Amino acid sequence: MSRLIVVSNRVPDVAKGPPPGGLAVALESALELHGGVWMGWSGKSSGAKEPGPLSFHEHGRITFALSDLSRRDLSEYYAGFANSVLWPLCHYRLDLTDYARKDMAGYFRVNRFFAERLRPLVQPDDLIWIHDYHLIPIASELRRLGVENRIGFFMHIPWPPPDVFFTLPVHEAIISGLTAYDVVGFQTGHDVDNFASGLRREGIGGDVGGRWFEAYGRRFRAGAFPISIATRHFADMASEAMNTAAVRRFAESLEGRDLIIGVDRLDYSKGLTHRIDGYEKFLTANPAYHGRTTMLQVTPKSRTEVPGYTAMQREVAERAGHVNGSLGRLDWVPIRYVNRAIAQNVLAGLYRLARVGLITPLRDGMNLVAKEFVAAQDPDDPGVLVLSRFAGAARELDGALLVNPYDIEAVGNAIAQGLSMPREARRERFSPMMKRLLEYDISRWCSDFLAELSG
Ligand code: UDP
Repeated sequence: MSRLIVVSNRVPDVAKGPPPGGLAVALESALELHGGVWMGWSGKSSGAKEPGPLSFHEHGRITFALSDLSRRDLSEYYAGFANSVLWPLCHYRLDLTDYARKDMAGYFRVNRFFAERLRPLVQPDDLIWIHDYHLIPIASELRRLGVENRIGFFMHIPWPPPDVFFTLPVHEAIISGLTAYDVVGFQTGHDVDNFASGLRREGIGGDVGGRWFEAYGRRFRAGAFPISIATRHFADMASEAMNTAAVRRFAESLEGRDLIIGVDRLDYSKGLTHRIDGYEKFLTANPAYHGRTTMLQVTPKSRTEVPGYTAMQREVAERAGHVNGSLGRLDWVPIRYVNRAIAQNVLAGLYRLARVGLITPLRDGMNLVAKEFVAAQDPDDPGVLVLSRFAGAARELDGALLVNPYDIEAVGNAIAQGLSMPREARRERFSPMMKRLLEYDISRWCSDFLAELSG
């Protein structure tokens, strides 16, 4: 079996125990199985112009190879081009995309730097798997350095249609970077279609049947590999969580009210203000529910170094405060807004307590919270998922009440429908979704991608 090399911007710190996320666990077990290297940024920055040598740590059959980055590199590559250009653009937010040229060179420079550091670690039969929008140009840099290995890429965020993508001044460099891979994985068929029509529109190439594509005289494959969760593990964690003190205390604090839950990093793609407006609409249209529901919105801060994120924090807090101020009573707070991260084993119990999971991103590559919410339910008496049709997860979770997250009234109506849905109907919606998630879990995702890459 070939060795595996994984490159991602962040690398879990396995010295601190098993990584919390399903993705990190799946990649770690694939690496453990194949033996290999996991390379990425160390999480540390320095004022030095040249970051020091790679630091290596061995863990079982995995070698972790971590690199510090200079503060300038980090600001241009990470906060700059990756998170102020590619992130908004790929989430269809032209209005938030920073078209200034200053950070683009930094993005390509850091990618070249990672490729140059990776080059000496590559052995002839290694499979190389690069993750996400921070690192698109790595394959073309490795090819330039003479690497002929099979290289795969997985895009964790959406791929936008050509009218959106081609607003990017360096769109051609990004597209040609993708065509240097052997396999390019997207979350959904919709993302693959957007990518294919981009190639055609520019006259660069296109799909030639099956999963095969041709561009710039190279052949490669591209397809949908919807990412998933450790479904069985999550379901077990949720039922165990019901006996923990934290979840019990929370359940008691509800005093019999129906729980509606939302869990999202603080990010404009998550549609938080629209969602709060939708909940307000539900309450104003259904006075009978006043005092009888609680919305819990768990929203850890993220990317505080990227301009705009702090202002957004204020905006969301203001919207939640507005609803509590105008509709709350002495003995009832409509929204509980928590601005910090909750451990996943507690979160699993909170999902299971909820009557409605309210997951309404304006655009999302997949949205794992939606899948976790389903996996956490009691199969006998499951809650209802209200899900944005613009989340990748909507393609698979067709038992959810699918909504347009911009349509505030529709979101309000879906909450009402979810809360009043009879048990039999809830079960009918839940079972096929759970079946799908048990079959296509994160280890299946990982092995499907690697099979395509090695095939
Ligand atoms: N999460 C968590 N604690 C929190 C909020 C989120 O552990 O307080 C986890 C959540 O369980 C999920 C991940 O963070 O696994 C979020 O993934 P998702 O795909 O929904 O969104 P992303 O943050 O990647 O855009």
